[in-house]
Amino acid sequence: MGKLTGTQVQELHRDHVLQSWGKAGQMAIPVAKAEGIYLYDYEGNKYADMSSLLVCTNLGHDNKEIVAALKEQADWMSFMAPSYATEAKSVLAKKLVDLAGPSFRRVFFTNSGAESNENAIKMARMVTGRTKIFSCYRSYHGATLGASNASGDARRFAAELGGANGFVKFMNPHMYQDGYTRGVDDEVCTNNYLKALEQQIRYEGPNQIAAILMESIVGANGVILPPEGYMEGVRALCDKYGILLIMDEVMAGFYRTGTAFGWQHFDLVPDMITFAKGVTNAYVPLGGVIVNEQISSYFEENVLQCGLTYSGHTLACAVGNACVDYYEAHNIGAHVVEMEAILKDFMETMVEKHACVGEARCIGLFSAFEMVKDKENRVSLVDYNEPNTAMPAIMNQLKEKGFIAFNRDNYVSICPPLTITKEELAEYLPIVDEVFTWVDETLI
Ligand code: PLP
Repeated sequence: MGKLTGTQVQELHRDHVLQSWGKAGQMAIPVAKAEGIYLYDYEGNKYADMSSLLVCTNLGHDNKEIVAALKEQADWMSFMAPSYATEAKSVLAKKLVDLAGPSFRRVFFTNSGAESNENAIKMARMVTGRTKIFSCYRSYHGATLGASNASGDARRFAAELGGANGFVKFMNPHMYQDGYTRGVDDEVCTNNYLKALEQQIRYEGPNQIAAILMESIVGANGVILPPEGYMEGVRALCDKYGILLIMDEVMAGFYRTGTAFGWQHFDLVPDMITFAKGVTNAYVPLGGVIVNEQISSYFEENVLQCGLTYSGHTLACAVGNACVDYYEAHNIGAHVVEMEAILKDFMETMVEKHACVGEARCIGLFSAFEMVKDKENRVSLVDYNEPNTAMPAIMNQLKEKGFIAFNRDNYVSICPPLTITKEELAEYLPIVDEVFTWVDETLI
């Protein structure tokens, strides 16, 4: 336990911390303890963390097995530079390659999701000798310069001020917002979007395009489930034009969707996989790029012009090993599938019951409600990237009832730790129902 009071912690934060994606000088919840799916403030108030913080603490808070691995490694050896081999790093690289499947061979370790995408982009450019990177408008890939320019949502605008070379955006499908019906219009939606993408590739010059960078399941922009056949179609276009496919698994990876990686729901294999978050349950920063045989052999013949002091950090890799072992030993993938059925059922009930819920999407424990003000015409509750009071009010109502969810735009996302039990779901999901009733009655 620390030495300060909750108020002191809050005030120091308010006065001296520059807040990510926010204005400085705001009060934040001072967290005194985090355990399982719960956070506790200094006054003992308890919150269910139904967003796994930033969709990263997949195995919950203060997971003793993982903390023990961190302590054990710290007692043995805390850090060794990238050019040395350590047991933690060598073993984790092999485990990750095995998790990704037989096409994959090596890992470049980083410290975050953004750095993973940044380095994947550099590698794609080195391997292909091409510059352009295609990515989706409905996406987020991180906040460093390259990753931010590759991101599609409005968080990229600050990075674009200085300009960066070769980033091209294409629109990815969002069936609900585009007026399609899932399970009915998939083929037509897929064909329309692939046709537009191929045309854009031809206009940009296929031999200038190094890679298409995509989230397997778009996360922060609303857990968007692609129409049947779309992802496979993108892979086919990559093959046709010699473009590499980089799959961003930073949020969807490590069993969030029930499988080790989100792309494993589709009939395709990417060339590179970027990861972070769930690999260490966020206890220590670690990310990386898993590359296939072809890219791996390119860097046997050519120098990899990428490097980070903390690449393959010993403590982080030890935690990564403990997490990968935990996911497997506790059969987290199967548990997620079991909990998904409960969450999906509940979400469908919410769509039927509430005027403010246009659609619910759920894959594994990765889910989002599409909040609307006119359900018949699919009009979003708030306009894209416009300041509004409705969504903060909803998030606040949930928080006051002890339920912390994730939100962007008009989405309320529920992404609890993958270890959540059915009893915990049964206890906390009714809060969402209550708050949506309030939204129906007061906000639309
Ligand atoms: N890629 C995806 C899909 C993400 O959701 C995020 C963060 O939320 C990132 C990349 C960036 O990760 P980081 O914040 O660790 O740089």
